Amino acid sequence: MEKNIPYALPWIEEEEIDEVVAALRSNWLSKGPRTVEFEKQFANYVGSDYALALNSATAGLHLSQLAVGIGPGDEVITTPYTFVATANTILHTGAKPVFVDIDPVTFNMDPALIESKITNKTKAIIPVHFAGYPVDMDPVMEIARKYNLYVIEDAAHAVYTMYKGRMVGSIGDLTNFSFYATKNLVTGEGGMVTTNNEELADKIRVMSLHGMSKNAWNRYSDKGSWFYEVEYPGFKYNMTDIQAALGLVQLRKLEKLQQIREEYAMMYNEALKEFEGLTLPYYDHINRHAWHLYVIRLKDNYFTIDRAQFIEELKERGIGTSVHFIPVHLHPYYQKLGFKYGDYPLAEKAYEAAISIPLYPKMTKEEVERVIEAVFDVANTYKR
Ligand SMILES: *Cc1c(COP(=O)(O)O)cnc(C)c1O
Repeated sequence: MEKNIPYALPWIEEEEIDEVVAALRSNWLSKGPRTVEFEKQFANYVGSDYALALNSATAGLHLSQLAVGIGPGDEVITTPYTFVATANTILHTGAKPVFVDIDPVTFNMDPALIESKITNKTKAIIPVHFAGYPVDMDPVMEIARKYNLYVIEDAAHAVYTMYKGRMVGSIGDLTNFSFYATKNLVTGEGGMVTTNNEELADKIRVMSLHGMSKNAWNRYSDKGSWFYEVEYPGFKYNMTDIQAALGLVQLRKLEKLQQIREEYAMMYNEALKEFEGLTLPYYDHINRHAWHLYVIRLKDNYFTIDRAQFIEELKERGIGTSVHFIPVHLHPYYQKLGFKYGDYPLAEKAYEAAISIPLYPKMTKEEVERVIEAVFDVANTYKR
């Protein structure tokens, strides 16, 4: 029996383990010198002036919105085709999420639909770079400038993404990355907010540590003092040095890991394009795709089985898969808010046909071949 191929696995080597052990031996377990160094290197990597390490992208999305003053009565425009955290954080601020449907080719928010959703309550736009392919940011930025809105990016999939030669993380007002266990760069749990705005960076730093005027890490170092003042009832959202130890090592090897992702994505593209019943992910040579996900879509009326059965068949052949995403407005809580099936038909259609197949550097080429064979086998067996 061949081993099952899981849907996702992290890339952890002895180096990561050694660096975590070194962090533990240093006695700095919370935010300390490694976190500060990770922030510095990450800002440098994306080309932003500031980077703040947090315990998740969700925390970053929440603080980004609070930092620009979003609260009850406000509206924030985003996509329904995302992980629910994007929209949940809008609710956490007391504001109302306003969704725009997607571009059916890239599955990113369609910038042409944004303007019609702007009201005098709109405060920000949250684009999500789905799967690691960038949202068309030029029109988004233009609309934001015209209506005086903030652009807060959800770059959970986009740690390597470039939009027209510019790194994601250096484009919008605030950009949020995720280092969750399945993402391209992992710290177990973790996130980073990048910005060029000093005032917003300061606010987020303070809000991430109880609202205290000085970092706890200054507080306990030789330079620090016991005194602090609370200017705001902040949160406990900081990263720890144990996480940053992982992040520092992962950042050094990101380029290498991304090369493997790209190579595997191209293997899938080459092989799977032979089968007309599948729509493959869009990419081009203008933007740099981070290949966080490889999402295939089943064409209508092409198979005798539905998407759920297709997933079961792959599972029987030892292939783990996932689905990105259940559109936010279809979740029971959002239905209670008044959203309903049919509101965003393109996102719904994309969801109903989507299967994310395994794509991560830890896979071997033989495993990529096995996934291809399994997809072909299921597709051919259940062709109409
Ligand atoms: C993973 C993910 C998040 C949340 O990231 P965390 O670091 O787990 O909070 C937000 N948005 C999208 C699109 C994601 O995929």
